[in-house]
Amino acid sequence: MRICNEKCRNCWAIRFCNICFTWLIYNDEIDKNKMNRMCRNLKRTIINAFLWYLYILERKPKAFEILFDEKNIKGGGECV
Ligand code: SF4
Repeated sequence: MRICNEKCRNCWAIRFCNICFTWLIYNDEIDKNKMNRMCRNLKRTIINAFLWYLYILERKPKAFEILFDEKNIKGGGECV
């Protein structure tokens, strides 16, 4: 995959990012203010998700086992 946006290339959140650039286009250009707002919000959401994950894991180390157990994945974890 080729990443054209310079800001994204250097972004720590890129592997978790779900921002679609079609949301950011205004008059055939990327609306930088909108992008900055959306990036900031997305990064906060990611940080909060990690904080919650760690918070729960500290208190209940087995809390997420059910999510990663292949028996609980529809189709036994195989690609369909
Ligand atoms: S958060 Fe923003 S800068 Fe980072 S990858 Fe997503 S769109 Fe790019």
